[in-house]
Amino acid sequence: MSKRYPKKLFTQLTSRSKERTSRLCLYCLLCLSSSLALASENDSKAQALPASASPVIPKAQSIDLEKPILETPAPAFQSKPDDENQPPEEAISEVVTLPLVILGNQVLPGTSTRLAWLPSQSFEGIAAPTPVLVVRGAKPGAVLCLTAAVHGDELNGIETVRRVMYALEAESLHGTVIGVPIVNLPGFHRSSRYLPDRRDLNRFFPGNPQGSSAARIAHSFFREIISHCDALVDLHTGSFHRINLPQLRADLTQPEVVKLTQGFGATAVLHSIGAPGTLRRAATDNGIPAITLEAGGSMHLEEKAVSHGVKGIQTLLASLKMNKKISLWGAPEPVYYHSVWVRADHGGILFSKVSLGKRVDKGDLLGTVTDPITNVRSEIIAPHKGRILGMAVNQVVQPGFAAYRIGIQKSEQEVSDPEQSLPVSPEEIDSPDLAASDYLPTAIRSKKARSE
Ligand SMILES: [Zn+2]
Repeated sequence: MSKRYPKKLFTQLTSRSKERTSRLCLYCLLCLSSSLALASENDSKAQALPASASPVIPKAQSIDLEKPILETPAPAFQSKPDDENQPPEEAISEVVTLPLVILGNQVLPGTSTRLAWLPSQSFEGIAAPTPVLVVRGAKPGAVLCLTAAVHGDELNGIETVRRVMYALEAESLHGTVIGVPIVNLPGFHRSSRYLPDRRDLNRFFPGNPQGSSAARIAHSFFREIISHCDALVDLHTGSFHRINLPQLRADLTQPEVVKLTQGFGATAVLHSIGAPGTLRRAATDNGIPAITLEAGGSMHLEEKAVSHGVKGIQTLLASLKMNKKISLWGAPEPVYYHSVWVRADHGGILFSKVSLGKRVDKGDLLGTVTDPITNVRSEIIAPHKGRILGMAVNQVVQPGFAAYRIGIQKSEQEVSDPEQSLPVSPEEIDSPDLAASDYLPTAIRSKKARSE
Protein backbone atom coordinates (compact mmCIF):
# COMPACT_ATOMS: atom_id res chain seq x y z
CA MET A 1 0.00 0.00 0.00
CA SER A 2 1.76 3.07 -1.21
CA LYS A 3 -0.98 5.39 -0.06
CA ARG A 4 -0.09 7.40 3.04
CA TYR A 5 -3.15 8.19 5.06
CA PRO A 6 -3.41 11.74 6.31
CA LYS A 7 -2.62 12.33 9.97
CA LYS A 8 -5.68 13.17 11.95
CA LEU A 9 -6.91 14.03 15.39
CA PHE A 10 -9.20 11.76 17.26
CA THR A 11 -11.91 14.36 17.22
CA GLN A 12 -11.95 13.98 13.46
CA LEU A 13 -12.18 10.23 13.42
CA THR A 14 -15.90 9.97 12.99
CA SER A 15 -16.21 12.17 9.96
CA ARG A 16 -13.15 10.66 8.41
CA SER A 17 -14.35 7.12 8.78
CA LYS A 18 -17.51 8.06 6.92
CA GLU A 19 -15.47 9.51 4.08
CA ARG A 20 -13.30 6.47 4.03
CA THR A 21 -16.30 4.16 3.92
CA SER A 22 -17.44 5.56 0.63
CA ARG A 23 -13.92 5.47 -0.78
CA LEU A 24 -13.44 1.87 0.25
CA CYS A 25 -16.77 0.97 -1.27
CA LEU A 26 -15.21 1.43 -4.65
CA TYR A 27 -12.04 -0.27 -3.63
CA CYS A 28 -13.77 -3.41 -2.42
CA LEU A 29 -16.02 -3.48 -5.42
CA LEU A 30 -12.90 -3.90 -7.43
CA CYS A 31 -11.87 -6.81 -5.24
CA LEU A 32 -15.18 -8.43 -6.00
CA SER A 33 -14.96 -7.99 -9.70
CA SER A 34 -11.55 -9.57 -9.79
CA SER A 35 -12.59 -12.38 -7.46
CA LEU A 36 -9.62 -13.25 -5.30
CA ALA A 37 -6.98 -11.69 -7.50
CA LEU A 38 -4.49 -9.77 -5.41
CA ALA A 39 -3.46 -6.20 -5.73
CA SER A 40 -2.86 -6.06 -9.42
CA GLU A 41 -5.56 -3.43 -9.76
CA ASN A 42 -4.56 0.17 -9.48
CA ASP A 43 -6.14 3.07 -7.68
CA SER A 44 -6.94 5.06 -10.80
CA LYS A 45 -9.09 2.21 -12.08
CA ALA A 46 -10.93 2.06 -8.78
CA GLN A 47 -11.66 5.74 -8.82
CA ALA A 48 -13.03 5.46 -12.35
CA LEU A 49 -15.83 3.14 -11.23
CA PRO A 50 -19.22 4.85 -11.09
CA ALA A 51 -20.70 5.36 -7.64
CA SER A 52 -23.97 3.87 -8.82
CA ALA A 53 -22.24 0.46 -8.99
CA SER A 54 -22.09 0.14 -5.17
CA PRO A 55 -25.50 -1.60 -4.63
CA VAL A 56 -24.15 -4.86 -6.11
CA ILE A 57 -22.01 -5.38 -3.01
CA PRO A 58 -23.69 -8.12 -0.98
CA LYS A 59 -24.88 -7.41 2.51
CA ALA A 60 -23.10 -9.43 5.17
CA GLN A 61 -25.33 -11.83 6.96
CA SER A 62 -26.24 -10.48 10.36
CA ILE A 63 -25.52 -13.21 12.86
CA ASP A 64 -25.37 -13.75 16.55
CA LEU A 65 -21.61 -13.97 17.14
CA GLU A 66 -22.20 -16.38 19.98
CA LYS A 67 -23.44 -19.01 17.56
CA PRO A 68 -20.59 -21.40 16.80
CA ILE A 69 -19.44 -21.82 13.23
CA LEU A 70 -21.40 -24.70 11.76
CA GLU A 71 -20.89 -26.41 8.44
CA THR A 72 -21.53 -23.25 6.43
CA PRO A 73 -19.42 -20.36 7.71
CA ALA A 74 -20.10 -16.93 6.25
CA PRO A 75 -18.23 -16.87 2.94
CA ALA A 76 -15.75 -14.12 2.14
CA PHE A 77 -17.26 -13.29 -1.17
CA GLN A 78 -20.94 -14.03 -1.46
CA SER A 79 -22.39 -13.90 -4.92
CA LYS A 80 -25.80 -12.77 -3.72
CA PRO A 81 -26.97 -10.72 -0.78
CA ASP A 82 -28.66 -12.60 1.99
CA ASP A 83 -31.36 -10.37 3.42
CA GLU A 84 -33.00 -12.95 5.64
CA ASN A 85 -31.45 -11.84 8.88
CA GLN A 86 -31.17 -8.13 8.21
CA PRO A 87 -32.84 -5.77 10.62
CA PRO A 88 -36.13 -4.32 9.36
CA GLU A 89 -35.87 -1.40 6.94
CA GLU A 90 -37.36 1.10 9.36
CA ALA A 91 -34.65 0.32 11.91
CA ILE A 92 -31.98 1.03 9.32
CA SER A 93 -33.53 4.29 8.23
CA GLU A 94 -33.40 5.61 11.78
CA VAL A 95 -29.62 5.58 11.92
CA VAL A 96 -27.25 7.77 10.00
CA THR A 97 -24.30 5.38 9.94
CA LEU A 98 -23.39 4.03 6.51
CA PRO A 99 -22.75 0.35 5.90
CA LEU A 100 -19.12 -0.67 6.24
CA VAL A 101 -17.86 -2.30 3.07
CA ILE A 102 -15.21 -4.85 3.97
CA LEU A 103 -14.06 -8.13 2.45
CA GLY A 104 -16.60 -7.79 -0.32
CA ASN A 105 -19.55 -7.40 2.01
CA GLN A 106 -21.62 -4.54 3.35
CA VAL A 107 -21.94 -4.67 7.11
CA LEU A 108 -25.06 -2.73 7.98
CA PRO A 109 -25.32 -0.47 11.02
CA GLY A 110 -26.56 -2.24 14.12
CA THR A 111 -25.38 -5.69 13.00
CA SER A 112 -22.64 -8.15 13.85
CA THR A 113 -21.14 -10.58 11.43
CA ARG A 114 -18.35 -13.03 10.83
CA LEU A 115 -16.45 -12.67 7.57
CA ALA A 116 -13.47 -14.45 6.11
CA TRP A 117 -10.16 -13.06 4.94
CA LEU A 118 -8.37 -15.18 2.38
CA PRO A 119 -4.73 -14.27 2.00
CA SER A 120 -4.65 -16.41 -1.17
CA GLN A 121 -1.12 -17.52 -0.48
CA SER A 122 -1.84 -21.20 -0.47
CA PHE A 123 -3.02 -23.36 -3.32
CA GLU A 124 -6.11 -21.64 -4.62
CA GLY A 125 -8.40 -24.53 -3.75
CA ILE A 126 -7.30 -25.08 -0.16
CA ALA A 127 -6.60 -21.60 1.16
CA ALA A 128 -7.91 -21.49 4.73
CA PRO A 129 -10.18 -18.53 5.43
CA THR A 130 -9.24 -16.47 8.47
CA PRO A 131 -12.27 -15.41 10.54
CA VAL A 132 -12.86 -11.68 10.93
CA LEU A 133 -15.47 -10.54 13.44
CA VAL A 134 -17.21 -7.23 12.78
CA VAL A 135 -19.60 -5.39 15.06
CA ARG A 136 -20.98 -2.34 13.26
CA GLY A 137 -22.61 -0.03 15.78
CA ALA A 138 -25.99 1.50 15.11
CA LYS A 139 -24.48 4.91 15.80
CA PRO A 140 -21.66 6.67 13.99
CA GLY A 141 -18.15 6.54 15.40
CA ALA A 142 -14.58 5.42 14.86
CA VAL A 143 -13.41 2.04 13.58
CA LEU A 144 -11.27 0.30 16.18
CA CYS A 145 -9.39 -2.82 15.09
CA LEU A 146 -8.13 -5.58 17.36
CA THR A 147 -5.62 -8.06 16.00
CA ALA A 148 -4.14 -11.04 17.81
CA ALA A 149 -1.85 -13.99 17.09
CA VAL A 150 0.16 -12.30 14.36
CA HIS A 151 2.56 -14.67 16.08
CA GLY A 152 0.67 -17.94 15.96
CA ASP A 153 1.77 -19.21 19.39
CA GLU A 154 0.61 -16.14 21.34
CA LEU A 155 -2.68 -17.23 22.82
CA ASN A 156 -3.64 -14.59 25.40
CA GLY A 157 -4.61 -12.07 22.71
CA ILE A 158 -6.93 -14.56 21.02
CA GLU A 159 -8.94 -14.96 24.21
CA THR A 160 -8.83 -11.22 24.90
CA VAL A 161 -10.29 -10.39 21.48
CA ARG A 162 -12.95 -13.07 21.91
CA ARG A 163 -14.10 -11.66 25.25
CA VAL A 164 -14.18 -8.08 23.98
CA MET A 165 -16.00 -8.88 20.75
CA TYR A 166 -18.69 -11.03 22.34
CA ALA A 167 -19.40 -8.42 25.00
CA LEU A 168 -20.22 -5.76 22.38
CA GLU A 169 -23.78 -4.83 21.54
CA ALA A 170 -24.27 -3.44 18.05
CA GLU A 171 -27.39 -1.49 19.01
CA SER A 172 -25.60 0.65 21.58
CA LEU A 173 -22.14 0.79 19.98
CA HIS A 174 -20.88 3.99 18.36
CA GLY A 175 -18.67 3.14 15.41
CA THR A 176 -17.28 -0.28 14.59
CA VAL A 177 -15.02 -2.85 16.15
CA ILE A 178 -13.22 -5.24 13.83
CA GLY A 179 -11.62 -8.19 15.62
CA VAL A 180 -9.23 -10.69 14.06
CA PRO A 181 -8.55 -13.18 16.85
CA ILE A 182 -5.98 -15.24 14.88
CA VAL A 183 -4.14 -13.35 12.15
CA ASN A 184 -1.50 -16.03 11.58
CA LEU A 185 -3.77 -19.04 11.26
CA PRO A 186 -1.09 -21.35 9.74
CA GLY A 187 1.23 -20.56 12.66
CA PHE A 188 -1.57 -21.08 15.17
CA HIS A 189 -2.36 -24.52 13.74
CA ARG A 190 1.28 -25.53 14.23
CA SER A 191 1.70 -23.75 17.61
CA SER A 192 4.37 -21.68 15.92
CA ARG A 193 5.29 -18.03 16.11
CA TYR A 194 6.13 -18.05 12.42
CA LEU A 195 4.54 -18.59 9.04
CA PRO A 196 5.11 -21.98 7.40
CA ASP A 197 8.19 -20.60 5.63
CA ARG A 198 9.73 -19.67 9.01
CA ARG A 199 9.28 -15.99 8.34
CA ASP A 200 8.01 -13.64 11.06
CA LEU A 201 4.86 -12.04 9.63
CA ASN A 202 5.38 -9.10 12.00
CA ARG A 203 8.42 -7.98 10.04
CA PHE A 204 6.65 -7.62 6.68
CA PHE A 205 3.92 -5.00 7.11
CA PRO A 206 2.55 -3.14 5.25
CA GLY A 207 3.61 -5.82 2.78
CA ASN A 208 4.31 -6.03 -0.89
CA PRO A 209 2.07 -7.72 -3.49
CA GLN A 210 5.14 -8.71 -5.51
CA GLY A 211 7.27 -9.77 -2.53
CA SER A 212 7.86 -12.95 -0.59
CA SER A 213 4.99 -15.09 0.62
CA ALA A 214 5.06 -13.27 3.99
CA ALA A 215 5.11 -9.86 2.26
CA ARG A 216 2.10 -10.81 0.14
CA ILE A 217 0.12 -12.05 3.14
CA ALA A 218 1.01 -8.86 5.01
CA HIS A 219 -0.05 -6.74 2.03
CA SER A 220 -3.37 -8.52 1.71
CA PHE A 221 -4.10 -8.18 5.43
CA PHE A 222 -3.10 -4.53 5.51
CA ARG A 223 -5.18 -3.69 2.47
CA GLU A 224 -8.25 -5.76 3.26
CA ILE A 225 -8.49 -5.16 7.02
CA ILE A 226 -6.13 -2.55 8.43
CA SER A 227 -6.95 0.11 5.84
CA HIS A 228 -10.44 0.27 7.40
CA CYS A 229 -9.16 1.08 10.88
CA ASP A 230 -9.08 4.46 12.58
CA ALA A 231 -7.07 2.99 15.44
CA LEU A 232 -5.44 -0.36 16.11
CA VAL A 233 -4.57 -2.48 19.13
CA ASP A 234 -2.27 -5.36 18.19
CA LEU A 235 -2.07 -8.02 20.90
CA HIS A 236 1.09 -9.96 21.67
CA THR A 237 2.84 -11.84 24.46
CA GLY A 238 6.44 -12.32 25.44
CA SER A 239 8.31 -14.74 23.22
CA PHE A 240 11.03 -17.35 23.55
CA HIS A 241 10.17 -18.35 27.13
CA ARG A 242 9.78 -14.85 28.45
CA ILE A 243 6.71 -13.34 30.07
CA ASN A 244 5.52 -9.74 30.15
CA LEU A 245 3.56 -7.77 32.70
CA PRO A 246 0.61 -6.36 30.72
CA GLN A 247 2.09 -3.33 28.99
CA LEU A 248 1.65 -1.14 25.95
CA ARG A 249 4.33 -0.44 23.39
CA ALA A 250 3.68 2.87 21.74
CA ASP A 251 5.40 5.56 19.70
CA LEU A 252 4.99 8.41 22.14
CA THR A 253 6.27 10.93 19.64
CA GLN A 254 2.85 10.63 17.95
CA PRO A 255 0.15 12.62 19.81
CA GLU A 256 -2.67 10.36 18.61
CA VAL A 257 -0.81 7.29 19.86
CA VAL A 258 -0.30 9.00 23.24
CA LYS A 259 -4.08 9.49 23.38
CA LEU A 260 -4.60 5.76 22.86
CA THR A 261 -2.26 4.97 25.76
CA GLN A 262 -4.11 7.49 27.92
CA GLY A 263 -7.42 5.88 27.04
CA PHE A 264 -6.25 2.40 27.97
CA GLY A 265 -6.36 2.85 31.74
CA ALA A 266 -3.87 1.79 34.39
CA THR A 267 -1.32 0.02 32.25
CA ALA A 268 2.45 0.24 31.94
CA VAL A 269 3.56 2.01 28.77
CA LEU A 270 6.94 1.65 27.07
CA HIS A 271 8.01 4.01 24.34
CA SER A 272 9.24 2.49 21.10
CA ILE A 273 8.52 3.49 17.54
CA GLY A 274 8.31 -0.18 16.61
CA ALA A 275 10.70 -2.17 14.47
CA PRO A 276 10.26 -1.70 10.72
CA GLY A 277 7.79 -4.24 9.37
CA THR A 278 5.73 -4.56 12.55
CA LEU A 279 2.01 -4.13 12.12
CA ARG A 280 2.01 -1.34 14.71
CA ARG A 281 4.75 0.61 12.98
CA ALA A 282 3.23 0.20 9.51
CA ALA A 283 -0.20 1.31 10.74
CA THR A 284 1.17 4.37 12.55
CA ASP A 285 3.31 5.27 9.51
CA ASN A 286 0.11 5.18 7.44
CA GLY A 287 -1.76 7.55 9.73
CA ILE A 288 -3.57 4.88 11.76
CA PRO A 289 -2.55 5.33 15.40
CA ALA A 290 -1.61 1.93 16.81
CA ILE A 291 -0.43 0.40 20.06
CA THR A 292 0.78 -3.08 20.93
CA LEU A 293 -0.50 -4.78 24.04
CA GLU A 294 2.01 -7.25 25.43
CA ALA A 295 0.62 -9.52 28.12
CA GLY A 296 1.96 -12.78 29.52
CA GLY A 297 3.90 -15.40 27.61
CA SER A 298 3.44 -17.56 24.54
CA MET A 299 2.04 -21.09 24.27
CA HIS A 300 -0.28 -20.84 27.25
CA LEU A 301 -3.24 -18.83 28.53
CA GLU A 302 -3.12 -16.61 31.59
CA GLU A 303 -6.27 -15.30 33.20
CA LYS A 304 -4.55 -12.25 34.70
CA ALA A 305 -3.06 -11.18 31.38
CA VAL A 306 -6.31 -11.74 29.51
CA SER A 307 -8.53 -9.94 31.99
CA HIS A 308 -6.14 -6.98 32.10
CA GLY A 309 -6.27 -6.74 28.30
CA VAL A 310 -10.07 -6.96 28.27
CA LYS A 311 -10.36 -4.20 30.88
CA GLY A 312 -7.92 -2.02 28.99
CA ILE A 313 -9.69 -2.36 25.65
CA GLN A 314 -13.10 -1.78 27.22
CA THR A 315 -11.73 1.34 28.90
CA LEU A 316 -10.35 2.45 25.52
CA LEU A 317 -13.75 1.92 23.88
CA ALA A 318 -15.28 4.17 26.52
CA SER A 319 -12.60 6.84 26.17
CA LEU A 320 -13.08 6.83 22.38
CA LYS A 321 -16.77 7.39 23.16
CA MET A 322 -17.67 4.20 21.31
CA ASN A 323 -19.17 2.46 24.30
CA LYS A 324 -20.71 3.56 27.56
CA LYS A 325 -18.35 4.50 30.31
CA ILE A 326 -17.72 1.80 32.82
CA SER A 327 -15.58 2.24 35.87
CA LEU A 328 -13.04 -0.56 35.74
CA TRP A 329 -9.87 0.81 37.27
CA GLY A 330 -9.11 2.18 40.70
CA ALA A 331 -6.33 4.34 39.30
CA PRO A 332 -7.07 4.91 35.63
CA GLU A 333 -3.78 6.60 34.73
CA PRO A 334 -1.21 4.84 32.56
CA VAL A 335 2.34 4.58 33.94
CA TYR A 336 5.21 5.39 31.62
CA TYR A 337 8.53 3.63 31.81
CA HIS A 338 12.00 3.61 30.39
CA SER A 339 13.28 0.09 30.40
CA VAL A 340 16.57 -1.77 30.43
CA TRP A 341 17.30 -5.43 29.89
CA VAL A 342 19.45 -7.14 32.49
CA ARG A 343 21.43 -10.00 31.02
CA ALA A 344 23.01 -13.13 32.42
CA ASP A 345 26.81 -12.88 32.33
CA HIS A 346 27.30 -16.61 32.76
CA GLY A 347 25.61 -19.63 31.24
CA GLY A 348 23.75 -22.21 33.29
CA ILE A 349 20.43 -22.84 34.94
CA LEU A 350 18.46 -19.69 35.69
CA PHE A 351 16.28 -19.52 38.77
CA SER A 352 14.50 -16.26 39.50
CA LYS A 353 14.20 -14.75 42.94
CA VAL A 354 11.71 -12.11 41.82
CA SER A 355 8.30 -12.29 40.19
CA LEU A 356 6.70 -10.35 37.39
CA GLY A 357 5.55 -6.89 38.43
CA LYS A 358 7.75 -6.79 41.55
CA ARG A 359 9.37 -3.49 42.49
CA VAL A 360 13.09 -3.81 43.05
CA ASP A 361 15.87 -1.58 44.37
CA LYS A 362 19.29 -1.15 42.86
CA GLY A 363 21.45 -4.02 44.14
CA ASP A 364 18.58 -6.45 44.73
CA LEU A 365 19.11 -10.08 43.76
CA LEU A 366 17.00 -10.88 40.69
CA GLY A 367 18.05 -14.45 40.09
CA THR A 368 20.86 -16.97 40.06
CA VAL A 369 22.56 -18.87 37.25
CA THR A 370 24.25 -22.11 38.21
CA ASP A 371 26.59 -24.11 36.01
CA PRO A 372 25.25 -27.68 36.25
CA ILE A 373 28.69 -29.22 35.72
CA THR A 374 31.03 -27.06 37.80
CA ASN A 375 28.39 -26.04 40.38
CA VAL A 376 29.61 -22.43 40.08
CA ARG A 377 26.82 -20.03 40.90
CA SER A 378 26.53 -16.43 39.72
CA GLU A 379 24.01 -13.81 40.70
CA ILE A 380 22.06 -11.39 38.56
CA ILE A 381 21.75 -8.07 40.39
CA ALA A 382 19.37 -5.20 39.63
CA PRO A 383 21.38 -2.28 38.20
CA HIS A 384 18.51 0.18 38.73
CA LYS A 385 15.57 0.76 41.00
CA GLY A 386 12.40 -0.10 39.11
CA ARG A 387 9.74 -2.66 38.33
CA ILE A 388 10.03 -6.07 36.66
CA LEU A 389 8.07 -5.54 33.43
CA GLY A 390 9.33 -8.66 31.67
CA MET A 391 11.38 -11.70 32.62
CA ALA A 392 12.53 -15.09 31.45
CA VAL A 393 10.93 -18.18 32.88
CA ASN A 394 13.37 -20.53 34.66
CA GLN A 395 15.46 -22.21 32.00
CA VAL A 396 18.96 -22.95 30.75
CA VAL A 397 20.57 -19.73 29.57
CA GLN A 398 23.68 -18.74 27.66
CA PRO A 399 25.94 -15.81 28.62
CA GLY A 400 24.30 -12.60 27.35
CA PHE A 401 20.77 -13.91 27.68
CA ALA A 402 18.28 -11.10 28.36
CA ALA A 403 16.72 -12.25 31.61
CA TYR A 404 14.89 -9.28 33.22
CA ARG A 405 13.37 -6.14 31.81
CA ILE A 406 13.36 -3.44 34.47
CA GLY A 407 11.04 -0.48 33.97
CA ILE A 408 12.06 2.86 35.43
CA GLN A 409 9.07 5.09 35.94
CA LYS A 410 9.12 8.46 34.19
CA SER A 411 6.68 11.03 32.95
CA GLU A 412 5.27 10.54 29.47
CA GLN A 413 7.35 13.50 28.24
CA GLU A 414 10.55 12.09 29.73
CA VAL A 415 9.95 8.69 28.19
CA SER A 416 9.47 10.03 24.69
CA ASP A 417 12.32 12.54 24.96
CA PRO A 418 15.63 11.02 23.83
CA GLU A 419 17.54 13.66 25.82
CA GLN A 420 16.18 12.07 28.98
CA SER A 421 17.22 8.55 28.01
CA LEU A 422 19.33 6.49 30.31
CA PRO A 423 23.08 6.61 29.66
CA VAL A 424 23.20 3.13 28.17
CA SER A 425 24.02 1.91 24.71
CA PRO A 426 21.29 0.61 22.39
CA GLU A 427 22.75 -2.85 22.82
CA GLU A 428 22.08 -2.75 26.53
CA ILE A 429 18.48 -1.77 26.18
CA ASP A 430 17.47 -3.64 23.09
CA SER A 431 14.64 -6.09 23.28
CA PRO A 432 15.36 -9.72 22.52
CA ASP A 433 12.62 -9.48 19.93
CA LEU A 434 13.07 -6.13 18.27
CA ALA A 435 15.81 -4.62 16.20
CA ALA A 436 18.28 -2.45 18.12
CA SER A 437 17.50 0.41 15.74
CA ASP A 438 14.11 0.59 17.44
CA TYR A 439 15.80 2.10 20.46
CA LEU A 440 18.28 4.47 18.85
CA PRO A 441 17.92 8.12 19.78
CA THR A 442 15.45 9.97 17.60
CA ALA A 443 18.11 11.90 15.69
CA ILE A 444 19.75 8.73 14.43
CA ARG A 445 16.50 6.88 14.10
CA SER A 446 14.85 9.40 11.89
CA LYS A 447 17.52 8.85 9.25
CA LYS A 448 17.78 5.15 9.67
CA ALA A 449 14.41 3.72 10.52
CA ARG A 450 11.96 6.11 8.95
CA SER A 451 13.41 5.86 5.47
CA GLU A 452 12.29 2.32 4.66
ZN1 LIG B 1 4.22 -11.36 19.22
